Formats: sequence, C-alpha cells, structure tokens
Amino acid sequence: MNQIERLERLPLRDDLRGQHPYGAPQLDVPILLNVNENTYGVPQDARDAILKAVDDVLAGLNRYPDREFTELRRALAAYLGHGLAAENIWAANGSNEVLQQILQAFGGPGRRVLGFPPTYSMYPLLASGTGTEYVSGARAADFSLTAESAAKQVRELAPNIVFLCSPNNPTGTALGNDVVEAVYEAGSASRTVVIVDEAYAEFAHDGTASAIALLPGRERLIVSRTMSKAFALAGARLGYLAAAPEISDALRLVRLPYHLSAITQATAVAALRNSDSLLANVEQIKIQRDRIVAGLAGMGLQPAPSDSNFVFFGGLEDPQSIWAGLLASGVLIRDVGIAGHLRVTAGTEAETTAFLTQLAVLLGH
Ligand SMILES: *Cc1c(COP(=O)(O)O)cnc(C)c1O
Repeated sequence: MNQIERLERLPLRDDLRGQHPYGAPQLDVPILLNVNENTYGVPQDARDAILKAVDDVLAGLNRYPDREFTELRRALAAYLGHGLAAENIWAANGSNEVLQQILQAFGGPGRRVLGFPPTYSMYPLLASGTGTEYVSGARAADFSLTAESAAKQVRELAPNIVFLCSPNNPTGTALGNDVVEAVYEAGSASRTVVIVDEAYAEFAHDGTASAIALLPGRERLIVSRTMSKAFALAGARLGYLAAAPEISDALRLVRLPYHLSAITQATAVAALRNSDSLLANVEQIKIQRDRIVAGLAGMGLQPAPSDSNFVFFGGLEDPQSIWAGLLASGVLIRDVGIAGHLRVTAGTEAETTAFLTQLAVLLGH
C-alpha cells in the first residue's frame, strides 16, 4: 500500500487528498549541492558565541520566552539598515513559517494567491495548507518577468496576495524594483498584499536593489529574508520579514503563542553579533557561482543569469541521466522537474571543481 492509499483510510481534508509533501531528497552523499545551503560550516568564533548565548538562557527555560522577541527584532533591524526599527520586523522558525503566517492572516478559504512559476515549490504547498487558492501566473519563454506583464496579470486576477521571489528560486535571477513597484501599484484597487521573498539577497551582484528600499509608504508590501542561506544557519530555523508595523499586528493574530524558543532567539542574536564572521564566505560563494555560469556556458549549456548561490541551467538532452551520473560520483544536485534543466548550488571551490569536472565527463567533453 503506498502513502496515498494509506491516507485514504483517514478522514483527511478533501483539498489535501492526493497531494504530495515537500521532499527534496536527503541522501547521504559527500557533496550536497541540492538545496542551496551554505556548504561552509559555522565558523568557530560564531559557534563559541552561540554556545555562550544559549548557555545564558538555559537556567531560565522553565519560563516561556519573550513572546515579542524584542532583542532579536532590534538586532535584525540593525542588520538590515534602511532606517528600519524593531517594530518593522517580524520573525519565525524559518521564512517558510513567516510565509505561512502571512497566508493565514491574508489568505484562506475564498481567497487567492498568485505566483509566477517556475518559482519556489513551497508557495503552492503553503497555499493548500491554509486553504488558499494558488494561481499560476505566466513568465516569458526565457523565464523572465517584466513589470508590464506582472502588473497586467495582477490587475486581471486581483489576487489577495502575490508572491515575487527575487532572486528567484529555481532560476536564480533577481527582479528589478520596477517590477515590485508596478505589481504594488496594480494591486491598489484589490488591496493585494505583495510578498517579495529575498531569501538569497546577500548573494546578489553589487548594485542589485532590495525591495526594502520601497517599504516607506507601502503598507501592503512585505520583504521576507532568512538566516538559512548566506548566514549558514539552515539548521537553526530563523526567517524574518521587514514591513509596516501593522503587518506584525496581523501576524500576532495567527502565530502560535511563544513560537520562537528562547534557544532560537539566543542563537539568532548571537549569530547577528557575529555576522561578519558568518557572512565571510558569501564573496567566495559568489566567485564559485560565477565560475559555474562560465563553466557551463563553456560546455555549450545555457545557464540563467544568477544573483543567488545556485545556477539553473538548460540545454541538457537527458537531465535525469546527468543527475543520476553525478549522484553516482558522489555529487547531489537538483532536478526541479523542468524539461532539459537542472539546478546546482555553488559550494566550496573543491565542491564546485568536483561538480564541473564530473559534468564535463558525463557530457563527453
Ligand atoms: C531556501 C528558501 C527559503 C528559506 O526557507 P527557510 O524556511 O528560511 O529555511 C525561502 N524562500 C526561498 C525561495 C528559498 O529558496
């Protein structure tokens, strides 16, 4: 009996029947380049600081943590800059939880959320989990999205929420702020909440604008960020957003009480105090990212422009066999289910070399 058949024995919600859970394979392979983690470990000075900060809160774990995670919000505001204060920040256990809370507050039954595939595979799952209808918008054939096209689709659909992912996962390309502005404008009549998911912002090329610059005067705009990628803290589960203070007021209505543990708060605050150390490898990862783009182009493949720590590339006749061939040599990358394409995370220099070398062998170069 498979999982779907077993589930048939339970009184599951009708709208969840037949659905598949999020499931990037977690395989025990030497080189893991499949889920866009930072492949550098946490540096010793940051580990020491986190250990001390966690130790400091252990004696008080008999009490519930600060429900308002005030010190963490202050530290996140200082990290983002742009004149933001603690009241502009909200956080949860990964940006996935932040996004879920936004859908709980502004989506739900009878409401619609618009996304632009190919984009982050969690958006439709978060929609179905909250009973929100997910509508797939259209991109150009090269996966780009112009301000004009995005705004037209928002005007026509009048969704309650729009997901813009910049840099976009899985394509890696950042959107210009003109797209965010146009989508926000187009959502005026429908009072559409616009989420810009900037999980990979720290990896963008110099001069790439963040939608954070657009926040003043736009109370329906939300910029989401995470410590899972550039900060090398995917295992700590800390995501956050910047927005008008009333967005946090809305999310307080749906969050679980004390949702951020004292250990999570202490870990994140200590990590932010050591952000220079934790972010030190971002430049090296960007160099490897650009090296992958150049290397793939040199093999006659078509890499998309990347502002993230991964590269999406096309021109493969048989991506499944390339994926399997890389796995057989100990390199796990991602098949995102788009014909002729694969996605690879930029790792350390040695990991990147292993990927490029094995790929060249498999392609017969
Ligand atoms: C990795 C990723 C996230 C991060 O999720 P966390 O829950 O913060 O670990 C968010 N959005 C996108 C597009 C991602 O690729």
